[in-house]
Amino acid sequence: MTGATIKRDLRTGRSLWADSPGLGVSTRPLTEAVAVDVAIVGAGISGAFMARELARDHSVAVLDRRPPLMGSTVASTAMLQWEIDLPLTALADRIGMAKAKRAYLRSRSAVDDLKRIVAEDRIVCGIKDKASLYLAGDDYGHRALETEAEARAAIGLDSAYVGPAILRDRFGMDRTGAILSRGSASGDPARLAAGLLRRAQANGARVYSPVEVLQAASDPEGVTLLTDAGHAVRVKAVVFCCGYEFPKSVPTPGAQVISTWAMASRPRQRCPAWLRETLVWEASDPYLYFRMGGDGRLIVGGEDEASSTAHQDKAKLKRKSTAIATKLKRLLPEVEFEIDYSWAGAFGESATGLPSITPVAGMDHAWAIMGFGGNGITYSVIASQVVSAAIRGKTDADADLYRP
Ligand SMILES: Cc1cc2nc3c(=O)[nH]c(=O)nc-3n(C[C@H](O)[C@H](O)[C@H](O)COP(=O)(O)OP(=O)(O)OC[C@H]3O[C@@H](n4cnc5c(N)ncnc54)[C@H](O)[C@@H]3O)c2cc1C
Repeated sequence: MTGATIKRDLRTGRSLWADSPGLGVSTRPLTEAVAVDVAIVGAGISGAFMARELARDHSVAVLDRRPPLMGSTVASTAMLQWEIDLPLTALADRIGMAKAKRAYLRSRSAVDDLKRIVAEDRIVCGIKDKASLYLAGDDYGHRALETEAEARAAIGLDSAYVGPAILRDRFGMDRTGAILSRGSASGDPARLAAGLLRRAQANGARVYSPVEVLQAASDPEGVTLLTDAGHAVRVKAVVFCCGYEFPKSVPTPGAQVISTWAMASRPRQRCPAWLRETLVWEASDPYLYFRMGGDGRLIVGGEDEASSTAHQDKAKLKRKSTAIATKLKRLLPEVEFEIDYSWAGAFGESATGLPSITPVAGMDHAWAIMGFGGNGITYSVIASQVVSAAIRGKTDADADLYRP
């Protein structure tokens, strides 16, 4: 008994957000050679934040081989978290407490920045403030989480340890402990990216699609991009925001592409009231996570697998959906989950849970963003800040954190 039924096979393999309204972003084919200040390769959420930021004071061209947003952005479950995949205490063991502290505080402020941008640009993307509940699991048990909550509180983060009695009484879950944190959010990632791209376009950015960048060659003055359209794009700087499809010329030390699965219930799912205000994830490998969407859908994901291609396997999608639903049922027995959408995608991991935001080795005027973890969208915000500072001739104070 899984407690889950698959309602409509039609939506098996289709992301919930692919059907969002308001995804229209006007694009154009590349019909002649162009010259601009900055080219951004990739029109996903990272390229969208980058374009929005750089179009304020540069001429910008965004190039994508697909229609905008149709890479991993449309597959994202968009828990907009400041918590990093690796707990603060574990990250401190790897890179030292001073840097780990900076990484957490920067993620925290990036989520605030994201919310501010959405409000300033009036982007309709269902953004909602959320608490987050990080449940003890087989990676980190309740003692480790108690220590973690103290370490976070000591650096000013709004996190508190929650024991098993409160977990049972307030949240109806049987676990040995958890950390409850404030300051995260959730939203529709595709509408968010579309809104950002439209804002960039209002400031003069042009979005070219479908155009594949095949090669990039730099010289002291800039970079020439060769495309499958047969026309070159000449720029002063290029930023590769290619998600998990790294161009062959861009080395990716420490990054690993894996597969992950997600699904959404029908709208107006009956759920406990606290779940409308809370993101839930667990300290296990593979882990389960879930949250409510604006229309009352329950969005659930997890079952990550260390394979860059497993997400393309249709039979596996059904097996993974059943496994996720079974775990959810075990944790929240009263929730009857009827699967409406189920989908899978590629996902990037790094050893520290931190992204890589670096100049491209061996090339001038070229940057690449990659290796995002479970809070990849938060890192898209940070990447736009770090790279735009560099392009403006400044150095972001935290840039060193993201250079593997
Ligand atoms: C199922 C799932 C759940 C997730 N859940 C969360 C979550 O809850 N919270 C969170 O923060 N993150 C989450 N993520 C991660 C998050 O979605 C990613 O970090 C984010 O989508 C990355 O965006 P991007 O713009 O960097 O990449 P993409 O959206 O993949 O965009 C890259 C684009 O580059 C284009 N491209 C690549 N190479 C070329 C080329 N040579 N020429 C032209 N175009 C090119 C591609 O066509 C693509 O459109 C999740 C991911 C998945 C798959």
